[in-house]
Amino acid sequence: MLMKNKLISDLKKNIPASNVLNTLEERYAYAQDATNIRRIKNLPDAVVFVENTEQVQKVVKLANKYKVPVICRGAGTNVVGACVVEHGGIILNFSKMNKILSISKENMTVVVEPGVVLGCLQKEVEKLGLFYPPDPSNLAVSTIGGSIAQASGGAKSFKYGTTKDYVIDLKVVMADGQILKTGSGTIKNATGYNLNTLFVGSEGTLGIVVEATLKLIPKPQSKKVIMAYFDTVREAVLAVNAIIEQRIYPATIDFMDKNAIQTVEKFYPANLLTDKEAALVIETDGFECSMKYQEDIITRILNTCNASEIQVSHNDDEYNKIWTARRSSMGACAKLKPNVTTDDVIVPRENLEALVLGIRAICEKYSLEVCMVGHVGDGSVHPQIPINYNDEDEYKRYKLAKAEIYDLTAKLGGILSGEHGIGSEKREHIHKVINSVALDYMRQIKKTFDPNNILNPYKIF
Ligand SMILES: Cc1cc2nc3c(=O)[nH]c(=O)nc-3n(C[C@H](O)[C@H](O)[C@H](O)COP(=O)(O)OP(=O)(O)OC[C@H]3O[C@@H](n4cnc5c(N)ncnc54)[C@H](O)[C@@H]3O)c2cc1C
Repeated sequence: MLMKNKLISDLKKNIPASNVLNTLEERYAYAQDATNIRRIKNLPDAVVFVENTEQVQKVVKLANKYKVPVICRGAGTNVVGACVVEHGGIILNFSKMNKILSISKENMTVVVEPGVVLGCLQKEVEKLGLFYPPDPSNLAVSTIGGSIAQASGGAKSFKYGTTKDYVIDLKVVMADGQILKTGSGTIKNATGYNLNTLFVGSEGTLGIVVEATLKLIPKPQSKKVIMAYFDTVREAVLAVNAIIEQRIYPATIDFMDKNAIQTVEKFYPANLLTDKEAALVIETDGFECSMKYQEDIITRILNTCNASEIQVSHNDDEYNKIWTARRSSMGACAKLKPNVTTDDVIVPRENLEALVLGIRAICEKYSLEVCMVGHVGDGSVHPQIPINYNDEDEYKRYKLAKAEIYDLTAKLGGILSGEHGIGSEKREHIHKVINSVALDYMRQIKKTFDPNNILNPYKIF
């Protein structure tokens, strides 16, 4: 207790005292993230709102002095327990480091602080005719720092890749307080090891990102969304491959199963066809003159694949309505029961049908409801399972189902996360998909970067 009091007092001496929170209520509010873990067992000792790099370095110095964890936090919207507090320590809140520092039209790059909200960044660069494609469904709130740390993707990953493909340089405060730069402002770099990709997806365990330089691309002139409904999941999945085989490359090919369609329509009416088994949400983009051509080819393929109904957006309102519906799936699911869990498994696309039908069979076996959405163009599926955590039996069945879903994914040549990360929620399963030699090397990397194990300890492994 004495040690904790000294830590708080040192923090308040080094950081403006109003930026250091340590009442019980405040600590409680930051013990949880969007993972919605079942029981909060540990609270942080303090929450610090940092305003600049020097303050981050000061906090890291104190964490080393008192040997307490430092857990970075953007918007707290990760769904794998990456910000969950397990051993006390300091939450570093980046909401005050939220400036876009510069946008270069010439270089097509942007330099940002980690607390910038992704959707705001997209709007700003789009004003200049530029484009930052990574788009997790909650981009209205999630931050650049958090999306770098979780290697976030989103619907547009299919055509444009994920956060990994856009980070060209990071300024990072290391566990000993030194500043490391991972890359350069150039869009190509073959100079030494690629530290960018090491930090992207490292979940705050290797260093603290205080500035990021991101690559931008030209904003596509036009976009349109086609929603296609099917009477079987199999037909929907086959249509995904049929589109790709025709060398048409939509920006997104997303999926909703019947439960997801019905649940969303119930809570956010968007005229979705609730009697259909599955739907694909296909976005095309590009030059205005190519839009009709793309629509015609895709519609033809969808008809050949037995799509039972096709809706096409004709204006921004219709476009936004369809995407709002698709992005609302987790929020809608959360209304079915007191709690909701979401997952993120990915397989080579040839095994997509087996994954979707397999997840459904596993959930049926354990009498669990499941709403399935996913970025199926990538082979990525998000089973969302509404649950009542107070129901011991249901929780037990959920844990068994979750383990079986991971076993199935591994058997189908897949991996445990395409974009959400591992955090604390999946670490006990990581050995199912990463071999022991690779895991050993990962642990050694962690030790080299963070010998005192203060940076978000025990996450991932
Ligand atoms: C409704 C919903 C829909 C979602 N849809 C998608 C989706 O489609 N695709 C997708 O990829 N994800 C999705 N996610 C997951 C989530 O959006 C991402 O994980 C998100 O980008 C995390 O951002 P955040 O700012 O909330 O980070 P946080 O949750 O605050 O933090 C995430 C991780 O980043 C670390 N971190 C934060 N800032 C820093 C920093 N400056 N330096 C080092 N580490 C840092 C934290 O310690 C933690 O480990 C969804 C989540 C929700 C709730």
